[in-house]
Amino acid sequence: MYDEQKYEDFIQEVKQKDLFRQAKVYEYSQGVEYSFENKTLINFSSNSYLGMHLDKRVVEASSHATQSLGVSSIASRLVCGTMPLHDDLEKAVAQWKGADESIVFNSGFQANVGLIQALADKNTMIFADKLVHASIIDGIRLSGAKFQRFHHNDISSLGKLLERYQDVEHKIIISETVFSMDGDEAPIADLVSLSKKYEAFLYLDDAHGAGVYGEDGCGPTGRWAKDVDLLLGTFSKAFGSFGAYACISKALKDYFLNTCRSYIFSTALPPGVIAANLKSLELMASEEYEAKRRSLLEKCKYLRESLKQKSYQLIEGEGPIIAVLIGSEEGALNKSKELFEKGFLIPAIRPPTVPKGSSRLRLTLSSLHTYRQIEDLLAHF
Ligand code: PMP
Repeated sequence: MYDEQKYEDFIQEVKQKDLFRQAKVYEYSQGVEYSFENKTLINFSSNSYLGMHLDKRVVEASSHATQSLGVSSIASRLVCGTMPLHDDLEKAVAQWKGADESIVFNSGFQANVGLIQALADKNTMIFADKLVHASIIDGIRLSGAKFQRFHHNDISSLGKLLERYQDVEHKIIISETVFSMDGDEAPIADLVSLSKKYEAFLYLDDAHGAGVYGEDGCGPTGRWAKDVDLLLGTFSKAFGSFGAYACISKALKDYFLNTCRSYIFSTALPPGVIAANLKSLELMASEEYEAKRRSLLEKCKYLRESLKQKSYQLIEGEGPIIAVLIGSEEGALNKSKELFEKGFLIPAIRPPTVPKGSSRLRLTLSSLHTYRQIEDLLAHF
């Protein structure tokens, strides 16, 4: 029986806790400027770290593909939804990363859920960093695998768990390269050596590293050295588009094509999105974008140092996700509202998304932000 009261009670409860969420409608005006109910806001909360979603060449490639091929891929990949564009993109990703193969997914969320479900079963033991993304947790739950979490970025905590479970035959270590809520980087070299020592499969989610770090924007892992068994990235952050990829061996690709449910049973990404991704990928390795990356990282350094000088406590990192720790939920919410009134869009992140007592403002920078906008923000912080 449909019980409306149950849902109304839930809504009341989250409202009482000040946790009620709504998708506010922001109108885009230009660059990082948005407007909300006639108020102009500088957006410090997007994931388009290089502003690629506005690059005219990317937009042009997308609209050209849409004009000539239509708005849909009209079927899932294994039925008849694989166009030459999809094949080209998988080859281009593999070439860019120096991987044997790549496989493209409709989103990072679908990729994590489907890949982990296909990789693990009840005989698998998964060791995941305490702060991994919700899609990784959902993938683990769907797989039915046993599951241990190690303290965030704490190699000795992971080492102890691996030692304890060394007799389990099938082990998977999962981490992000750059964490989505804290913006700090994982100890990748240590993860690689532990995975080798304990013969565990290493699975890294590079959603926030790709495009921002490394030569040609290859991310903090650099070119694929086969040290990482599966490296996942998304087109939805620095690439300014939509979709995801995983860099893997040939055997794994064939395995996933035959087992990965979120890949098999979903309509392929439309040609306009694939063409945008191909163009972004081509541009990512250009001198122009190398310069944008450098300038973005310089702005990040400047903003981080300036906030520290103002005695704010930050989570250490180098990249465009800057977590300013406030502590209490109320404090973070008030600060976010105060900045909103002054024209800055910066969300407060509170439990259950982050642990109690670590409520924060999650600020993200893009190469589109000017120093003037950064100075304005600092003046009001
Ligand atoms: N992994 C991580 C680490 C993420 O932060 C996100 C998005 N926030 C995803 C996966 C999901 O990616 P997408 O938005 O492409 O579904």
